[in-house]
Amino acid sequence: MFDVVFNGAFIVDGLGSDPFRADVAILGGEIAAIGHDLGSSREIVDIDGLHLVPGFVDIHGHSELRAMVDPGLYPKLLQGYTTELGGNCGVGLAPVRHEGRVDLAKEVSGILGLGPQDWPWSSFPELLDHLGSMNFGLDLGLLVPHGPLRRFVMGERSCQSATAEDLSQMAMLLDQAIEAGAFGLSTGLFYDPCCYCDGRELEALFSVVAARGGLVSVHQRSEGDGILDSLEEILSPAERTGARLQISHLKIGGRRNAHKLEAVLGRIGSAVDSGVDVAFDQYPYSAGSTSLYSLLPPRWMGLDFSLLRRSLCDKVDRSIIKEEMENPDGWDGVHSLVGWGGIYLTSAQREEHRPYLGKSLEEIGRMRGEDPFDSFFYLLSEEGKALTMIDFITSDEMVEGIMAHPLQMFGTDGLYSPCPHPRTFGCSYRVLGDYVKGGKLSLPEAVNKLSSRPATRMGLSDRGTIQVGKKADLVALDMDAMANMADYGHPDRIGEGIPFVWVGGKLSVRDKTVVGLGGRLLRR
Ligand SMILES: [Zn+2]
Repeated sequence: MFDVVFNGAFIVDGLGSDPFRADVAILGGEIAAIGHDLGSSREIVDIDGLHLVPGFVDIHGHSELRAMVDPGLYPKLLQGYTTELGGNCGVGLAPVRHEGRVDLAKEVSGILGLGPQDWPWSSFPELLDHLGSMNFGLDLGLLVPHGPLRRFVMGERSCQSATAEDLSQMAMLLDQAIEAGAFGLSTGLFYDPCCYCDGRELEALFSVVAARGGLVSVHQRSEGDGILDSLEEILSPAERTGARLQISHLKIGGRRNAHKLEAVLGRIGSAVDSGVDVAFDQYPYSAGSTSLYSLLPPRWMGLDFSLLRRSLCDKVDRSIIKEEMENPDGWDGVHSLVGWGGIYLTSAQREEHRPYLGKSLEEIGRMRGEDPFDSFFYLLSEEGKALTMIDFITSDEMVEGIMAHPLQMFGTDGLYSPCPHPRTFGCSYRVLGDYVKGGKLSLPEAVNKLSSRPATRMGLSDRGTIQVGKKADLVALDMDAMANMADYGHPDRIGEGIPFVWVGGKLSVRDKTVVGLGGRLLRR
């Protein structure tokens, strides 16, 4: 006797096969049979005419803090995500010293959102234990974030090169974290303090992950002018150490760099040919989103905030920073790629700054009657590091060019800023509602890129496809009704066309409502 039989759906198995009509039986949270006339069951669910697909796996998430205050993680679960790999971009919650918790909480709030007041962890294994005591809407695995790791070991020296002693300490803590269940390492070479690391440090950390068979996920130093050098910077340690490399949200920023797509994909292809285990994720939008602070040149980003604040208010320093931002040399100057008209403010804590939310820096400059650079310096000096932005850095053609590649898979990179990028609530609806219904991707291909590929990349062999013996993480799709509703003006609107989600066979979403918490912390 089965627990549940789903009757009459078109099955999209996640492997890329054409949809076929069959019933699916669940027993003990697993798929027990697929076929016709499967026999008796305690419950029959008639989903005639709907598509049944494997639960989506978000290989690029940032939900670890949000999960503590919204365990259902509805922004993800309502999109059909049943597994997430969090801790990406080198940003995260551990390790952290007791006295550093308030600062870290403030710093990550634009990306990870607001969490509980109390942080009862210091080390990464303690963070895993804390999350391990909770239930969530979906399964949540974590990468060890390079930023906090570096700051924990190097303290005030974290804007310098690491010493041999620093490297061995970081390596030891990383190894302990992976042993405790982390999936690998993430770094954000574009961000402070990861941007101060050199090739030696990358190689040391990649080797630890390689020895444990984990994944290294990298937000590259440059996604614009310097993208080819950036690619080299991470492919060579991956090649030398054998680490499995996941390039985060692959894109090429700035119109002037669009011609580099072929060279970038070619270089990744040649790395594969020479034996590097590399793939990449992508959010299907032409705009990115990150901290406003990351627009600063690295040497200013690394200053202690009280010192930086003084410079941001100083006329002479302002003109030096402006000059460097207009002519970036060896770093990714997002402002120089898109201009102030392409950068929109998406968070502000101070009441008097709320009218600027959703406005471009160009508009904000006009509202304040000043150069947008001065508005940028003013806002940073008043609000600190937590401010976030949306930047229109690439084009739909670029998004589609990358999406078509066989090494591509989707990831949301969902941030929890107050006025988020629509990818947080809408990524899978965008794929299914816009790209599949718009004829740019077939449904089997899209499901493969949303489920099976990221699951395999995470090393999870128990999910990602509809096959006997796999975990019963399942999503019902109504492709007639399927529509993406989230856009830049309404980023948190939930799409149409995902009526049910089951996590481990447990009904978890019905009518756009979280009705079950079938997920838990995943340890690798
Ligand atoms: Zn990210």
